[in-house]
Amino acid sequence: MGRIIGIDLGTTNSCAAVVVDERKVKLIPYRGGEYTIPSIFAVDAKGHELVGHEAKRQWQLNPKQTIYGSKRLMGREYDPQTAHRIQEYFLYGIEKDEQTAEVQVAVAGRQLPLTEVASKILMKIRDVASDYLQEVIDRAVVTVPAYFNDRQRQAVKEAGRLGGLEVVRVINEPTAAALAFGVGRARDQELVAIYDLGGGTFDVSIIEIRDHVFEVKATGGDIFLGGADFDNKIIDWVLESFTLLHSDIDLRKDPIAMQRIKDLAERSKIDLTARKECAFNIPFITMTPSGQPLDIDLILTRKQLESRTHHLIERTIVTCERVCRDAGVHPHEVQHVLLVGGMTRMPLVQKTVTKYFGHSPSKQVNADEAVAVGAAMFAWSLEDTSHGQLQLLDVIPMAIGIEDAQGNLHKIFERNDATPNAKKMVFTTSLDNQLNLEIRIYQGDSSRARDNDLLGAFDFSGIRPGPAGAVRVNICFTLSQDGMLSMSAHDTDTGTQMTTKVQTNAKEA
Ligand code: AMP
Repeated sequence: MGRIIGIDLGTTNSCAAVVVDERKVKLIPYRGGEYTIPSIFAVDAKGHELVGHEAKRQWQLNPKQTIYGSKRLMGREYDPQTAHRIQEYFLYGIEKDEQTAEVQVAVAGRQLPLTEVASKILMKIRDVASDYLQEVIDRAVVTVPAYFNDRQRQAVKEAGRLGGLEVVRVINEPTAAALAFGVGRARDQELVAIYDLGGGTFDVSIIEIRDHVFEVKATGGDIFLGGADFDNKIIDWVLESFTLLHSDIDLRKDPIAMQRIKDLAERSKIDLTARKECAFNIPFITMTPSGQPLDIDLILTRKQLESRTHHLIERTIVTCERVCRDAGVHPHEVQHVLLVGGMTRMPLVQKTVTKYFGHSPSKQVNADEAVAVGAAMFAWSLEDTSHGQLQLLDVIPMAIGIEDAQGNLHKIFERNDATPNAKKMVFTTSLDNQLNLEIRIYQGDSSRARDNDLLGAFDFSGIRPGPAGAVRVNICFTLSQDGMLSMSAHDTDTGTQMTTKVQTNAKEA
């Protein structure tokens, strides 16, 4: 059997790593020598499928058939409001998959579930790793945002399975970064905050490290807050400035112009990390109705960028406050702050985080690589336990519960409950000769069940016939180490096991 590699499946970029010998972690390079692969899938005009750098190279000219930033929609139920908001900036088609009620994308006349898009990216990473290591790679530890719910985690496992890659464990990105920082430090006990602002998601975790044990005290985040939202603020500014000069032209209707603006918006944001201002020039962006070519010719300053995006950074601090509260920790008690994700290079992010935690972030981990490095270390610890297996004591990011008769969420697991975990509940039949029991499981922190994410409707059948209230069914809810839910049920009096059927598109039922 080949080695287990660690994969950071990012919203913007993905990265893989492996332990080569005795704790030495190596990032797996792509052909051109880069250590990251853009998480982009495209179909070109000839129908060829492209993944990674090849897909990114052509995205300005082929914006509608180029799928990027799709990870945060994976495993999510289609919701017209979110789709509409995202569609303003994403140029490819976002639709509802009628079978699963999840989001799917339209590319080159085909409808693709997002698990398939993720699967193509994972396969590319696996092929690059197999070529580099000269062995068949078919197992990986894959990281996900800590704030991913059960359904999104299941989707990542499914994406691996579709391409023949066994996802042996799903671990949280901040936890992986803590591993990259903490393995081999040999300190008694340290309290670490991991602030992870990437291309599409934000996570923060407070983790206590004791030798080989990494115990997550609390976690929180936002799967709709990341670099893309900062880019969108720059895009809005460009469009507003352009409209002031040419009120009769709507650039939003021109996908190629929008993709060029998007591309430069991201590059300008990155430039403004090192500079106070930069030119925002795009020649021949469009034509006037009379056929005259028009350019975009602007100057963007760091101050302007900060004034348009500081509220996004403040939103991350609100989450940090909640997570510190949940962990029972004052921010100044945290000994090390680790910054993970490309967006943490932005000076205002660093300044704001430093102010909140009361000291400067640690320079000991690389913001782009720490997650893949930690995943590889964990993969290695699963294979080779001779050095004492790393112990991850993680938590679930949001409560999990069932819908009660009033439509409220009856919590089975609370937010920040530890994994693995198990709870039992006894249900009593409410009808004479009731033969099955349907329960709807939701994940989220709202007290109204339907305001949370539906994980599925579970139908337990094979209940013994009897008068209402006479038959009791015991359901055991089990959370795996990956934070994933499974269930089993039996008749409390006879011990007979029931069979379960899961229906994920239960809202339609
Ligand atoms: P990640 O998901 O960690 O790869 O983060 C990618 C995000 O970080 C993208 O939105 C990038 O535009 C952003 N990013 C990368 N480098 C920088 C930088 N130097 N300054 C600001 N943002 C950056």
